[in-house]
Amino acid sequence: MDEANLKAVLQSEGIDLPESFFVKLPVYARLLAEWNEKMNLTAITESGAVYEKHFLDCLLLLKNRDLNNKALCDLGSGAGFPGMLLALAVPSAKVTLVDATKKKFIFLEEVKKTLQIPNVEFHIGRAEDMKEFREYFDILTCRGFAALNIFLEVAAPLTKRGGTILAMKGAKAEEELDQAQKAIRKLNLKFNGADRFVLPECQETRIELSFKKTGPTDKKYPRPWKDILERPL
Ligand code: SAH
Repeated sequence: MDEANLKAVLQSEGIDLPESFFVKLPVYARLLAEWNEKMNLTAITESGAVYEKHFLDCLLLLKNRDLNNKALCDLGSGAGFPGMLLALAVPSAKVTLVDATKKKFIFLEEVKKTLQIPNVEFHIGRAEDMKEFREYFDILTCRGFAALNIFLEVAAPLTKRGGTILAMKGAKAEEELDQAQKAIRKLNLKFNGADRFVLPECQETRIELSFKKTGPTDKKYPRPWKDILERPL
């Protein structure tokens, strides 16, 4: 997928982004390719695949959704997906990228500086330890972070009441959703729906699962990571 194709798909999905945004994308792609030789950032390296499986995939979160002035947190952001793309696309959003791997932030700092993305902040650490951010964010996102029930236990405490949790998943999303029913109940969440999209060139299915936080999260969540993994909700 090249830039023209990306623009066309975004437009057909009703996602309008300014030219200044598109000018920065090739720079992101170049930095990703350069840094990927020094550290393990992504298995997707070919430029067309980066545009489709990283850029387009992340930007689809903007479909029918207004992120203006929202506080958004991306858990396990890795090389900045989807959080950095969303910060770049919506300058009025305040975006926090969280990752436990410190060295990823050397790359992310470089992207922030080179592309001039002032509305992104970094939190180096474990998502389940972010006590100071309890009920802080309007929107929580993740892609490739953890199984759905695990992500929800970590995400729900960080989300404001009435806020939204978005999980970017592949074709197995429905299975994960089945396994997360207990977590959804215990965490006072409501399933808002699934949005399915087939990436046009590779034909891979992407499913975005959306949840609303309808009530408070019990203080006992999130439990320590070991317990979350050993006895998932
Ligand atoms: N979102 C990116 C990266 C997915 S890989 C993408 O889609 O390309 C998962 C990332 O989550 C890794 O970078 C890993 O360091 C991070 N991670 C896993 N468990 C974590 C935790 N408990 N707290 C913070 N980061 C975590």
